[in-house]
Amino acid sequence: MLFAAEPLAPTIESARKVLKKYYGYDSFRPMQEDIIQNIMEGHDTVVLMPTGGGKSICFQVPAVVQEGVCIVVSPLIALMKDQVEALKANGIPAAYINSSIGSSEQHSIAGDCLNGHLKLLYVSPEKLLSDGFLAFLKRLRVSMFAIDEAHCISSWGHDFRPEYTKLRVLREQFPDVPIIALTATADRLTQRDIQQQLRLTEPKVYLSSFDRPNLNLIVRPGQDRVGNILEFLERHRGEAGIIYCLSRKQCETLAQKIQAKGVKAGFYHAGLTPNQRSAVQEGFLKDDLQVIVATIAFGMGIDKSNVRWVIHYNLPKNIEGYYQEIGRAGRDGTPATALLFYSFGDVMSLRDMLTKENPQLTQLNLTKLERMQQFAEAASCRRKILLNYFGETLAHDCGNCDICRNPPTTFDGTEIAQKALSAVVRGRERLSISLLIDVLRGMRNQAVISGGLDQIKTYGAGRDLPYLDWYSYVHQMLNDGLIFIAYEEGYSLKITDLGREVLLGQRPVSMKKFQPAEKAEKKPRGRKAAAAAPAPASREAQLFEALRTLRKRIADEQGVP
Ligand code: ADP
Ligand code: MG
Repeated sequence: MLFAAEPLAPTIESARKVLKKYYGYDSFRPMQEDIIQNIMEGHDTVVLMPTGGGKSICFQVPAVVQEGVCIVVSPLIALMKDQVEALKANGIPAAYINSSIGSSEQHSIAGDCLNGHLKLLYVSPEKLLSDGFLAFLKRLRVSMFAIDEAHCISSWGHDFRPEYTKLRVLREQFPDVPIIALTATADRLTQRDIQQQLRLTEPKVYLSSFDRPNLNLIVRPGQDRVGNILEFLERHRGEAGIIYCLSRKQCETLAQKIQAKGVKAGFYHAGLTPNQRSAVQEGFLKDDLQVIVATIAFGMGIDKSNVRWVIHYNLPKNIEGYYQEIGRAGRDGTPATALLFYSFGDVMSLRDMLTKENPQLTQLNLTKLERMQQFAEAASCRRKILLNYFGETLAHDCGNCDICRNPPTTFDGTEIAQKALSAVVRGRERLSISLLIDVLRGMRNQAVISGGLDQIKTYGAGRDLPYLDWYSYVHQMLNDGLIFIAYEEGYSLKITDLGREVLLGQRPVSMKKFQPAEKAEKKPRGRKAAAAAPAPASREAQLFEALRTLRKRIADEQGVP
């Protein structure tokens, strides 16, 4: 195919013409124009824009306007394929080379590059850095390098690709070719890594707002997740959505349970063959599959605008990952839901995982996990916390997260705190969270009896409160610094100096009571909604079951029989 290459001056007017002619769009989005201008002036550029913000156009349009070929580095075969097909459909000559392309086809693509027919060539980092490829590039006129999903370069990030770190050779071997790095991850450390590792020279950094006001952020306690998800699906019939799980096994079993309810669901994880994976992706893109249950391997670069909700079955490892994943919902700008299940058990298993994973980064990863945990336990506007993390401030509470919709009420929690603190001390600071709650609620299970904990004075002093309330109060005490968790001592709770002051009556404690999570989501009003509310008896049974599961998990994780 020959490109209708009218000679174009690299001006913003030509860029606008290209946008209209090949993409059919009338105008650039606010930041795109500045970015394109900067790129066409030949500067290194860093683009930090949320998923769906329109990063591709930022390098594709200048690639068309400028002479030569733009080399795009992209981490996933599926991503390259999608983008190249979209470009070709718009009439822009583009191709991709990776391990899936046969050698004769590679030859013909190389030919198109050499005779100047291609405007964009997508390559995997492995291919780019392989023998001879850089030498081949030297024979071309390369207009620029675009490093897509550039956060893959940072080991602080969530999609670290070791091959990305070798991309510094681009600057060494092509000192005059501008480099454009693009990502939806905006935290400071990742940003710094991108600039340093790619050896960018005084790049202009474009950070667009990460606010997604149409996302309704909800966090629920992690009890009876499956039941809650099935209920959620009832309320969201026919809507496309993604459920993120931590393990492959979980993906498969949950997908089965959802299928059993007559919902078209598929699962996706790194254990599938490439063919299976692309079949699931296609099925989802074409709306043949309504729900995908996946590990975080799913979704990078997927351009599906009508995803109405994203559920996190487990707590994500950090806010960057969480933000990126929820960003796959509501890309069309209409209301969408991001529901996160949170339990302290998740924090513990993630802590274990992160501790074993990468010794050098353990401290950092644990700090990131803590921020994630604080988000999940927050009692104030969640969107504010999220945006704060990315260095943005929000003047008002968002009004569209569960906390804003159902603000917790504040009350004098001194007596509650004293009961708990007293049990902590009388249990000789050896109680884990769940054991503490058992003691307070006067449960007679083995851990309580064998530890002689039914003999201490505060045993049963908190019978009047349900498990979930205690669970929330103990976490508030942790966040307020009245107690802390000695991770190295079987996760037992210890009292702090501040906690002692409370125990001695020298300091009052204010606590928050959260509304039932169900109310946080928009629900149909009237009789139907009332009928859908769980009956008190089943709620009690649910709590009991939740307690058992949680205790079993904690025991499993601590290796307690
Ligand atoms: P990102 O890479 O930032 O996640 P994409 O580049 O895939 O986002 O763009 C997301 C969607 O926005 C695409 O469907 C794209 O065509 C559309 N888009 C981008 N820029 C514009 C624009 N100026 N006007 C209208 N739609 C746009
Ligand atoms: Mg993209």
